[in-house]
Order: sequence, then structure tokens, then C-alpha cells
Amino acid sequence: MDKLVSLCKRRGFVFQSSEIYGGLGSVWDYGPLGVELKKNIKDRWWRAMVHARDDIEGLDAAILMHPRVWEASGHVAGFTDPLVDCKTCKARFRADKLEDARCPQKPSKKPGEHSACELTEPRMFNLMFKTFMGPVEESASVIYLRPETAQGIYVNYQNVLNSSRQRVPFGIAQIGKAFRNEITPGNFIFRTREFEQMEMQFFVKPGSDEEWFERWREWRMAWHHSIGLEPAKLRWHIHGPGELAHYAKAAYDIEYEFPFGWNEIEGIHNRSDFDLGRHQEYSGKKLEYFDQATNERFLPYIVETSAGADRVTLTTLVDAYREEEVEGETRVVLGFHPSIAPIKAAVLPLVKKDGMPELADRLFHDLKRQFPCFYDDSGAIGRRYRRMDEAGTPFCCTIDGQSVTDGTVTVRERDAMTQVRVHQDQLIAFIRERVG
Ligand code: ATP
Repeated sequence: MDKLVSLCKRRGFVFQSSEIYGGLGSVWDYGPLGVELKKNIKDRWWRAMVHARDDIEGLDAAILMHPRVWEASGHVAGFTDPLVDCKTCKARFRADKLEDARCPQKPSKKPGEHSACELTEPRMFNLMFKTFMGPVEESASVIYLRPETAQGIYVNYQNVLNSSRQRVPFGIAQIGKAFRNEITPGNFIFRTREFEQMEMQFFVKPGSDEEWFERWREWRMAWHHSIGLEPAKLRWHIHGPGELAHYAKAAYDIEYEFPFGWNEIEGIHNRSDFDLGRHQEYSGKKLEYFDQATNERFLPYIVETSAGADRVTLTTLVDAYREEEVEGETRVVLGFHPSIAPIKAAVLPLVKKDGMPELADRLFHDLKRQFPCFYDDSGAIGRRYRRMDEAGTPFCCTIDGQSVTDGTVTVRERDAMTQVRVHQDQLIAFIRERVG
């Protein structure tokens, strides 16, 4: 992880937020390469969940919502973690995660194990960020930054139904920011206080929910494979009776094997009719669905798929990172699936003379209109290849003496390091076919 975090900073994937002021705890900024990587992941998700299907609509609900939403959802009363303080060192821990924590004074021990530790009794701590709407800071104007995007979907379920041609079963998908005042955030962008979720809520007839749940489990795992994640590093974790959230009838997590252990990257939940039932009760608005084909009225069950865009981004970085021995030197490669690589191709004139820079410049601008590209004319060609390997760029196009005479360029592929000559007229099609 240390190597990855330092590469992310050096190459412009991820920076610490407000770094020049000493940083802000567990908040991160995405640099030029990171923003492209994360955007590609979100685009792939949107394509698979919205554009490729005819039974899912997109939505972009606001972060700020009516405070009653969070009472109905159960977040005001129950979105809490048990917190313990150490009176000696003033550190704070999640009482249910002490096993994974370290005593700041003696890191070989867990909190409470060192003779100087003095832990308080656990007290419940609500994870929602609170703020005020309008100029007066009083309890009547308290609102929350949403801790999940899902509620924006539930409260718009009828708007989407009435304005689209969808009929149950159908889904609503959304990508957006969520905020949680986590007690023990950490592991780089794995657990942060501000993050993005990619959530889809699928509304089904009660009784068909278990079948849909199984389908969604299969489709979501296949999606993680499709962005190139190593299947052997992905597994299912089923929530046992003691682990199930208050709203869930069944829940599975997709977990990835990180350097710090197996951890959740996406949850698939059968939420029954809990959410629409609660919003119906708290808002006083009827949220039942009338099925014209069968003349039945029912409150739809919901199958939810909920992934973190930042967590999946971290997963692709961890999964892609490798070091290899090549000609006595170590090369660091980010072997991203080409479809999510931030830069698709680099254009490299072999030398800065003999017509090569002019041809390279023209090709670069042609390519750049199609996909993100990078131009590099400084240093030995081997060094330039290494720089692109480290950024995860799948193709390097080298312009050499032969290019100027016959119009072909050398295309070097990142993983196998094989080279083929491609005519400049075919270059865009050649790369497009391979980056999806
Ligand atoms: P965890 O047990 O790791 O706290 P959770 O079970 O609370 O996660 P959910 O509420 O199911 O998570 O949220 C769905 C997804 O949102 C998670 O699978 C994860 O990818 C992402 N997510 C949740 N909390 C965070 C966070 N603090 N930072 C980054 N991503 C998060």
C-alpha cells in the first residue's frame, strides 16, 4: 500500500486534501490521472446499468434532502457506530473494530491492551454530517449531508414511474457523493468521510424478489470481472442473521482481497418493502404500484446494488499494480484493463529532428480528439516507455525515421511489450478496437 500511495501522489492519481495546510483527515483529491480513472469506472457502470438496459432509468438527486427523509429511513435513530475514547492518548476507536485497531502509543498492541490504556464505555455516535439550512443555526433548520444516495431514489420512485414508460420490474440508477463522519477512516481512499456511490434500486413485485436478487448478484460480479479485476481476488460474503441491517431480508457483499485483507467493495441487498413502506408512512403519500395487467396493488420490494466509486477505483489500482524484472531493471506497471486506463495512448517521436516531431505532433492531435493521449519527447525511449507503464497507458506509438518515409508507426503494447507497425491511417481504429 505504501508504494501504491506514493505512486498515486507522484503520478497525479490521488492527493491528500488541503495538503499545503497539513491535510484534512481522510479526505482525498483526484489528480489528472485519477479523475480519468474514476470517471472511466463510473462511465462503465453507467453504460452497463443504464445505457445497455431498457429497464433502468438514471437519476441525479440533490445531496440535501428534507430532514424527515432521514427519520423515515432510520438514519437519525440508527445510523450509529459505538465509539470508545482512550482517556490517556485521546484516540478514538470503533468499539466493534478494536480487533483491527492499534494502540497509538504501542502499535504492537490493540487499544486497551497496553497498561497505560484507559478506554471509556462505548457510546453511540451518529455518522451523519449535520448542517443548517438558511441563516439561523437552530434545531428547526438542521439538515444532513446524505450518507447514501439511495434515499434520493426512493423519494423519486413515483416521479420516475410517472415520467418514463417503465413498469415494475424496473430500476433507477444514480451516481453521487455521500458523506459519513466515520470514526476510524483509513486505508487511503478505502474508507473516507466524503465519497461517491454508484447505486441502483430495482423495484419488483413481492414474491419475485429472491429471483431478482440472484440475478443481480450474478450481473454485479460479472461487471467487476469486466473491468479487469482478478476473479480469484473477488469473493462473496453473506450477511448472517446478526449482521443483517434492519431493512434487509438478505445481503451479500462482494469482497476484494486488499493488502490489508478481504474487504467489501459492493453490497447487494434485498431490502423488502421497508423503504417504500417507511416513506409512505412518514410522508402520508401513497406509494403503492397498480399493476394494470393483474389488477393488483402492492408496495414493490427493492433489490439494491451499492458500490463505492472510490473503493472500486482503489481496487483497480491495487489489482493493476505490479513490479517486474526487465533487462536487469525493475519496471512498475499499472496493468489496467484498457477500457479504464486514464491515458489510452502515448505519442513519442524517437528524436527531436528529421521531420519526426512534426509528424508526431499531427498524429497526437488526431488521436487526442478521439481519446485521452499523452505526448512525450524527452529522454531515452526506454525511459519514456517506463513512465507510461507506470501510468497504466496501454499503447505507446513511436514515430521513427521509417514513419517519415512510409507513414507507419511502431505501436508497443504495455503488458507483453510486443511491437507492431501500424499505418498512421489505421492508428485510430487500431487503438479504438482495443480500448473499447
Ligand atoms: P463498511 O462496512 O465498509 O462501512 P457499509 O456496509 O457501511 O461499508 P454500505 O452502506 O453498504 O457500506 O455502502 C455501500 C458501498 O459504499 C460500500 O460497499 C462501499 O463501496 C461504499 N462506502 C461505504 N462507506 C464508505 C466510505 N466511508 N468510504 C468509501 N466508500 C464507502
